[in-house]
Amino acid sequence: MTLTLRTTCRGCGGALQPFLALGDQPLANRLRRPDDRAPVAAYPLTLCRCLDCQLVQLREVVDPALLFADYAYVPSTSSTMRAHFDEFAGDAVHRLRLTEHDLVVDVGSNDGLLLSCFQRRGIAVQGIEPAENLAARATADGIPTHAAFFSSAVARELGAQRRAALVTATNVFAHVDDVRGFIRAAFELLAPDGVFMVEVQSFADTVSSLAFDMTYHEHMTYYATAPLGRLCEVEGVQLLDVERVATHGGSLRATIGRIGHPLARPDRIAARIAEEGERAGPSGCEHLARGAETVRRDLRALLDELNAAGASVAAYGAPAKATVLLNYCGLGARDVRYVVDRNEAKQGQDIPGADIPVVGPQRLIDDPPTHLLLLAWNLTNEIVREQEAFAAAGGRFIVPVPQPRLLD
Ligand SMILES: [Zn+2]
Repeated sequence: MTLTLRTTCRGCGGALQPFLALGDQPLANRLRRPDDRAPVAAYPLTLCRCLDCQLVQLREVVDPALLFADYAYVPSTSSTMRAHFDEFAGDAVHRLRLTEHDLVVDVGSNDGLLLSCFQRRGIAVQGIEPAENLAARATADGIPTHAAFFSSAVARELGAQRRAALVTATNVFAHVDDVRGFIRAAFELLAPDGVFMVEVQSFADTVSSLAFDMTYHEHMTYYATAPLGRLCEVEGVQLLDVERVATHGGSLRATIGRIGHPLARPDRIAARIAEEGERAGPSGCEHLARGAETVRRDLRALLDELNAAGASVAAYGAPAKATVLLNYCGLGARDVRYVVDRNEAKQGQDIPGADIPVVGPQRLIDDPPTHLLLLAWNLTNEIVREQEAFAAAGGRFIVPVPQPRLLD
């Protein structure tokens, strides 16, 4: 079964209400080779809210074997992520008072970047990573990594050898369908006073920035603090602490432990829930849905107007959100001639569904457009600085979100 539809909340079992349909979308991270003649598979992409616990989640679940086959995201290539993981490890070692007698297990450990930050601090580490190429690379680099999807069986097998003081899951906790099974497995691996730390994109921040294009099939759940606390309760464990960190436009770093754990900070959890406020509830969902529709309407109108007036529009950045935004807005090569991305692995391929070629930055010099649509809009300042020559020659930048506009 390639696609299944959820009818109940993966946290509490409550009823789901759809609030934003992004249409049929190809898998956002799967760029397409131009010689690939097979039709692009596209699946509906619909955000729902649980009417009971308010947890925001996708209705559609694409088979993980398809979703995560040859998964290419390797965070070590990003200096921002390197600094972030180093800070994460330092914070955890300090707060949990970890020593060389403790074991940290990272689930979805990728190439071992986060674990290397613990290892440098003298802590024993173990990775779990389903992508065999990444697991092998990490192990060769000195980070022992078990190549598997995380499950109770894997947790019990590893836990029989040694219990962990800390289990971490960054950028993976929001990507699992059976999130309750994931929590249970983490606690099968943890020592009695061990804790589970996760980082997830913060839905309240997604609403504030109208980042509807950060919705894609891999990203199954969109967390706010209160529904996360409720999910822990349902599994008989406790959300101990939560803080907001800047990663991915605003994320939640949550610490989960057994009930009665001394690290519990209910004051900080209550403050975060108050700060998220309405953004984490029904009106936040409505705001996001209305914002997405406005962006689609206004961006199409702006590009139609520019192209009719003889402009030449290209785009910058081919992250997952570029695929989502282009497909949702129904944009193709007639609207945007090419997409520039510095990542060579993406160049020479097409944005799926939109069929726009991804090219290297040299194209901006050889065949300059008049306008550059910033699809990696979260990096606007960085791109504008880097493309100073384009602006100096009269080129204009278009920012699509939260409202399509030309930069001055
Ligand atoms: Zn629920």
